[in-house]
Amino acid sequence: MKLVRLRNLALGLIFGAFFIMYLGVFVRPMLPFLFSVGLIMVAVSIGIYFRMGAISMRIPQVVCPHCGKQTKVMGREDGCMYCRAPIRLDENGELVQ
Ligand SMILES: [Zn+2]
Repeated sequence: MKLVRLRNLALGLIFGAFFIMYLGVFVRPMLPFLFSVGLIMVAVSIGIYFRMGAISMRIPQVVCPHCGKQTKVMGREDGCMYCRAPIRLDENGELVQ
């Protein structure tokens, strides 16, 4: 679930960036400033996407005990990506019921 939240954040950043750059079209004097802010936001969200890809390959996949779907658990404790039920793992990455 943390992964999903991170993805939403990156997506929101991209939309926010386009919105800011779009605003720059109407506020001409601010265009260079708004444009660079927008570009920075796009760069940050691309960075988040790349990190997310690297993270999601490493983190364990478990079958959610509540809805039976495969979900990814980030860290020791995370929520299921589908039903949002809390999932806890022990030191060995085993599911704690
Ligand atoms: Zn679930």
